[in-house]
Amino acid sequence: MADFNDLTGQVAVVTGGNNGIGLGMARGLAQSGASVAIWGRNAERNAQAEAELSEFSKAKAFACDVADRDQVAEAMAGTIEEFGRVDSLIANAGIGGKKGPFHEMEIQEFHGIASVNVDGVVLSFQAAIKEFLKQESGGSLVAVSSLAGIEGAGTNIHYGATKGAVLAIMRGVAAEYGRYNIRANAILPGWIDTDMTEGAVGSEVFWEKVIKRVPIRRWGKPEDFAAAAVYLAGPGSKYTSGQQFVIDGGYSIF
Ligand code: NDP
Repeated sequence: MADFNDLTGQVAVVTGGNNGIGLGMARGLAQSGASVAIWGRNAERNAQAEAELSEFSKAKAFACDVADRDQVAEAMAGTIEEFGRVDSLIANAGIGGKKGPFHEMEIQEFHGIASVNVDGVVLSFQAAIKEFLKQESGGSLVAVSSLAGIEGAGTNIHYGATKGAVLAIMRGVAAEYGRYNIRANAILPGWIDTDMTEGAVGSEVFWEKVIKRVPIRRWGKPEDFAAAAVYLAGPGSKYTSGQQFVIDGGYSIF
């Protein structure tokens, strides 16, 4: 019987894989047999995640600020040196915005968030594509966007704009590189309990106004993203490209 979840022999990169949603996806990939490289800045979290993932499969963390072209190139070179190839890359690293009235937002604030959420995806995708082009099997790219990328986000407009940008990047890459067996897709999380949302997670007001409107009636968890990562990295999705996968407990249709 075909096992589309078996990633043995595959090498997956997860940017921001040392925490939150990225770590949830990295766990799923490692548990499915992939060798996993995680790229992140925080040395302590990198070491912790590497140790945890190593219990399931081969895993290595690389110190990398995805907004920095040279650091991305070094992390990819290190990944290839360690594992010999790369088959998938999930551009998950991202930061939230400082909320406030749009008309008062400093343009530097916009540039700061875009440097990670957009430049980081561009640089990571470019580095992976260069590797994918060397192999007939191509590879799989995944951008972690957000519901804010399609709905927009009042008082957090710059964040929504960066997440919309990565959807257009993903679709363009899917169109340009499909002929090389390179596919690109996006995952759009809803409200997920991570460090990014810690201010809202304990809030009763937030529960009453927002989480009660999630049909599955709870915050999402990092582990809710594991299977989607495995599907998009693996052979089951080899004819799936240019698509957006919303994982939000049904929030966006209610
Ligand atoms: P976390 O804050 O838990 O994790 C963010 C991860 O990104 C960390 O591993 C962090 O590692 C890494 N990261 C941040 N900046 C950089 C950088 N410059 N270079 C490399 N790595 C970086 O947040 P989430 O897990 O919630 O977020 C993951 C993704 O999901 C983000 O893109 C976010 O926008 C998106 N998302 C989250 C939602 C939610 O409700 N939580 C909803 C919709 C989308 P380190 O600091 O060590 O670099």
